[in-house]
Amino acid sequence: MGFLSDELLLTIHDRAAGYDATNAFPEEDLADLRAAGYLAAFVPEEFGGAGLGLEAIAAEQTRLAAAAPATALGINMHQIIVGLGRHLVRNGNPRGKLILRDAAAGELFGFGISEPGNDLVLFGSITEAEPDGEGGYSFTGTKIFTSLAPVWTRLMTFGRDDSGEDGPHSVFAVLHREDGGFTIKDDWDTLGMRGTQSNTTILEGAHAPEAQILTRTVPGPSSDPVVFGIFSNFEILLAATYAGVGQRAVEVAAEQVKTRRSVKNATVYANDPDIRWRIADAALAMNAVGPQIRELARDIDAGVDRGPIWMPQLSAAKNAAAEASLRAVEQAVRACGGSSYYTKNELSRLYRDVLAGLFQPSDQESLHGAWANVVLGPVQTD
Ligand SMILES: Cc1cc2nc3c(=O)[nH]c(=O)nc-3n(C[C@H](O)[C@H](O)[C@H](O)COP(=O)(O)OP(=O)(O)OC[C@H]3O[C@@H](n4cnc5c(N)ncnc54)[C@H](O)[C@@H]3O)c2cc1C
Repeated sequence: MGFLSDELLLTIHDRAAGYDATNAFPEEDLADLRAAGYLAAFVPEEFGGAGLGLEAIAAEQTRLAAAAPATALGINMHQIIVGLGRHLVRNGNPRGKLILRDAAAGELFGFGISEPGNDLVLFGSITEAEPDGEGGYSFTGTKIFTSLAPVWTRLMTFGRDDSGEDGPHSVFAVLHREDGGFTIKDDWDTLGMRGTQSNTTILEGAHAPEAQILTRTVPGPSSDPVVFGIFSNFEILLAATYAGVGQRAVEVAAEQVKTRRSVKNATVYANDPDIRWRIADAALAMNAVGPQIRELARDIDAGVDRGPIWMPQLSAAKNAAAEASLRAVEQAVRACGGSSYYTKNELSRLYRDVLAGLFQPSDQESLHGAWANVVLGPVQTD
């Protein structure tokens, strides 16, 4: 038994197909998760939360994703920011306390990093961050895939400040929804993960006063706790979420092959050695994922510094989870055959949902670039 009850997860699971079909935000899921204390589950007790660590919240995200992938991926954004708050507090950035207190008070955090065509992702913004002269900034630009768009009350975002004589800087801040300065487009109509409602957000001079600025730092992979806090919590919690999708596919396939019958063999497919091998293959792929997530999460919880290998290893865990989950869903579809192609079959939704993991950061291009640098060093010019 985890933090979220099996009963609640069953209720959330029962609603998932409906939210997917109607392309709607899972309002009832959010209300139930809020009532269960999930928005503050990852907040330390001293700040008014339940005090789960990263390893424990990652396990909850896996369970939630097995019940409803899109609901889990949406709420994952909030948990990432809470994780950032924890990391900041541990590293002496006082803005972390604001995040944790807000989360304990019921605020819901969105994650406004991604921008159209910007493959620097966290390491450089094309949104303008204009200083207000009092330590605050106004943000103007386009953020894409902003999950929780209908409901977030706080949005962590970043932009680029070119105004100083010290060169370009990334400015990370928390916007308050009630302060306005942005428009949310109604453009979320996607293949999968439909319940995240990750609409495009146009920042039109959205203002964060000085008290809401998390850091101003040089762009690029950096040791700034804001950058590492986002990166580490993002990769681990994304891995945990996709792990839930793959695990669920194994469960669904195992159920379905017990009733799918073969005319040729005069028995159910669960007794067919080829099908047994496929489902075992899916389970094996998923079995390799959990230990990696847990080991990294434990080190983050313990404040271990792995040095320059940290970021590549964090990206690798996300990649391993996304790829294993895709393989597990594929094997499940092959084992269950034609029935899995019908919309009413959960596997068809899991297949659509799992595909988003392939291009969510870190994608394989940036992952392999980072690992090539680890193994070979930078590209040499002749
Ligand atoms: C389900 C889901 C939820 C997500 N939730 C979040 C979230 O909450 N917060 C967050 O920050 N990120 C989120 N992401 C975004 C994700 O992190 C990636 O950044 C995103 O998938 C874009 O990656 P890309 O580089 O492959 O796409 P891109 O190549 O950047 O394409 C994305 C969009 O931008 C358009 N585009 C590309 N280039 C240009 C250009 N030059 N000019 C104008 N438009 C252009 C494309 O047509 C496309 O519509 C989410 C992703 C998914 C799939």
